[in-house]
Amino acid sequence: MHRDTVFDLIGIGFGPSNLALAVRLAEEAGNAGNVDLAHCFIERQPEFGWHRGMLLDDCRMQISFLKDLVTLRDPKSRFTFINYLFERGRLADFVNLKSFYPTRVEFHDYLSWVAASFDERVHYGQTVIGIEAIKAAGNANEVDALRVFSRDEEGREWQRVTRALSVGIGGGAQVPEAFAALGSHNIVHSSKYLTSIDRVVGDADGPRKRVAVIGAGQSAAEVFVDLTRRYPHVDASLVIRSSALKPADDSPFVNEIFSPAFTDIVYAQPRDGRRSLIERFRDTNYAVVDRPLIEQIYEMLYMQNVSAEPRHRLLANTGIETAVRTANGQIELTLRDRLSGHARAEQFDALVLATGYRRDTHVELLEGLAPHLGDALAQGNVERDYRLGTPKNFKPRIYLQGCCEDSHGLSDTLLSVLALRADEIVASLARHTSQDRSASRTTQTEENGTSKGRMAFAL
Ligand SMILES: Cc1cc2nc3c(=O)[nH]c(=O)nc-3n(C[C@H](O)[C@H](O)[C@H](O)COP(=O)(O)OP(=O)(O)OC[C@H]3O[C@@H](n4cnc5c(N)ncnc54)[C@H](O)[C@@H]3O)c2cc1C
Repeated sequence: MHRDTVFDLIGIGFGPSNLALAVRLAEEAGNAGNVDLAHCFIERQPEFGWHRGMLLDDCRMQISFLKDLVTLRDPKSRFTFINYLFERGRLADFVNLKSFYPTRVEFHDYLSWVAASFDERVHYGQTVIGIEAIKAAGNANEVDALRVFSRDEEGREWQRVTRALSVGIGGGAQVPEAFAALGSHNIVHSSKYLTSIDRVVGDADGPRKRVAVIGAGQSAAEVFVDLTRRYPHVDASLVIRSSALKPADDSPFVNEIFSPAFTDIVYAQPRDGRRSLIERFRDTNYAVVDRPLIEQIYEMLYMQNVSAEPRHRLLANTGIETAVRTANGQIELTLRDRLSGHARAEQFDALVLATGYRRDTHVELLEGLAPHLGDALAQGNVERDYRLGTPKNFKPRIYLQGCCEDSHGLSDTLLSVLALRADEIVASLARHTSQDRSASRTTQTEENGTSKGRMAFAL
């Protein structure tokens, strides 16, 4: 007979969402009288990283540094961005910048600095590959706990048992169908831009390269500018369906939708009301670009005309009808001008797809539990405390972060509510865990049961 440690919580993914949760859990453990929650996190990357593939040198945060992992909940926490600056010896210099918007490189350093305090809790370099239900001893109709399977970089499989999950796996690359069929050769999603682009465009001494960037959002604009600046041998075309690059609305009244209190307002609406609120404010986050970057692009294109060397282009009002590989390995796009209706074919050496992110990757991750979840996953049935609404006989709690935009509003995929969301999740977890505490902290598992052939480790 083998006994597994039973965790109170396993966090899948260790991006900002679960990092904020780790901070809040540490506070919980430090306060006398609170429930001590046994927990760990499993992260695919070998070390902490926040969108490393888009960590361009001079790109700025699109959110105030005061919306860091903790400040909105506890400005006295040692994990504030201000304390990070202080400990790094840059607080006074940062003040002189007179900016609320640090570079992403600096914010990445801040997040890594916080993450370093939790190294012992995080299993880096392991990808969660599946989750199974564990039935209650003596009641085959009740699911009591979950077994989480992960695979490390050497291909070894691990398993851990938990009574709750926090799924914080972020988005998956959204690749439109027309491009998915072409394979990945010389086609890069923006999420892998920095790690792939050198290989794709080759060195500056080689032949000129024509690169199309597809998309009208912030990432597309950042990639376009980066290509024009760092690769003198690249002729870049930014292809957008809309008639112009549009600025993100970050005016103060509109920005209130990202306040934690707005989550209650969205959640209280019926399904249609939530959808219409999200649609009404969509231009705060999707297919929009920071105004200074738009102005930078406009000026760059203007200056090309002054020097009569028009190499880079913004192709507005342009729909992509087909994408095919040519015999010489290039990609031929059929581009239709959406105003004139005129279509033409153009060849490119490479594409960068800044086509956004899917927010449904948790469905695949939780697939092994589907027979026990009723229609909770299909219906996107999530409670206000971010718990998946599971049937009564399913006891484990599954908290979802970053995939509840439909129910909790536009801030769900962003950093804006992390500090408060972590607080809400830990409060819910502590409440339910203390109710469960009467149950045994260990569960018996059969050595050769559902986990046959996998390595079992008690952590
Ligand atoms: C380029 C870029 C810039 C952005 N800038 C801002 C900004 O300025 N302000 C803002 O508010 N938001 C911004 N965002 C939005 C972004 O979603 C949030 O900043 C934040 O990353 C959300 O954190 P998360 O932990 O939910 O997701 P992520 O940061 O995506 O982290 C998810 C983690 O889960 C891991 N993971 C995934 N699957 C598995 C698995 N099966 N097993 C184990 N680990 C797994 C991933 O490796 C990753 O580390 C930006 C997004 C991008 C792409």
